Amino acid sequence: MLDSLNFLFQNSLVFRLTSLLIVGLCIGSFLNVVVYRLPIMLQREWRNQCLEVLGDECKLAPDLAKFNLNYPSSHCPGCKAKIPVWTNIPLIGFLLLAGKCNNCKIKISWRYPLVELLSGILFVAAGYVFSDPWTVFASLIFIAALLSLMLIDLDTFLLPDELTLPLLWLGLLFNLHGMFSASLTNAVIGAVVGYLSLWSLYWIFKLLTKREGMGYGDFKLLAALGAWLGWQNLVSVLLVSSCLGILYALVLRFSGRLDRGNPIPFGPFLGGAGIVTLLFAAHLFPILIY
Ligand SMILES: [Zn+2]
Repeated sequence: MLDSLNFLFQNSLVFRLTSLLIVGLCIGSFLNVVVYRLPIMLQREWRNQCLEVLGDECKLAPDLAKFNLNYPSSHCPGCKAKIPVWTNIPLIGFLLLAGKCNNCKIKISWRYPLVELLSGILFVAAGYVFSDPWTVFASLIFIAALLSLMLIDLDTFLLPDELTLPLLWLGLLFNLHGMFSASLTNAVIGAVVGYLSLWSLYWIFKLLTKREGMGYGDFKLLAALGAWLGWQNLVSVLLVSSCLGILYALVLRFSGRLDRGNPIPFGPFLGGAGIVTLLFAAHLFPILIY
């Protein structure tokens, strides 16, 4: 049974892409939960830690109510009604509800089905580019982690260690035999160079302008990308992400939605460039490949 599934997965493109589309849509639905809840979980944890350190100096009471990825169950932000299980079916749930809460008819954000769709499409792309089950599996983890990081950074300007650090050591682990980076050496150097390159830029910028150009989360994210893609690919990651970031900032500036001196998150562009490079490096940047 498992052998024939494995055979089908490796040899039938239709089977591989269909199964990955379904898995991708479901994971996308889960990512929506992570992106919304993880920052809240972290804020609460940090707040409680602060209270613990400050002790009596602080009059606030610690917030000990249970809140995690699983609890409380999903509810409508408008009327707090519990969301029926069938509406959690990716895309289909949203379409059946016509984008409105079943109870109070408040509009549900288009972002939820879009994230599900994007995750589905990227999983299919991974299945198109790779066929070995382990390589596909690893690339799905990479894509899912980066999608969460990109959206969390976009919403909150945070790139949680809880995601960047496991992504970094998983990259090194998958590259023990050079799955994506051709060798473990490339991956280890990639992690170090990724961190140090943005760290140095940060300090140069800070010493020259007395301002902070990016956050430590960005260094850790680029270190993780280096661990997955090898140091050679960091050039393309930095090139693609800076171009996209500058373009985005210019569009915002000229449409009047970004004031001078206001920051934009860099994580979404690093993550996007990382995914593009993992999937298409061999086609887009043939010179940079080993
Ligand atoms: Zn409602």
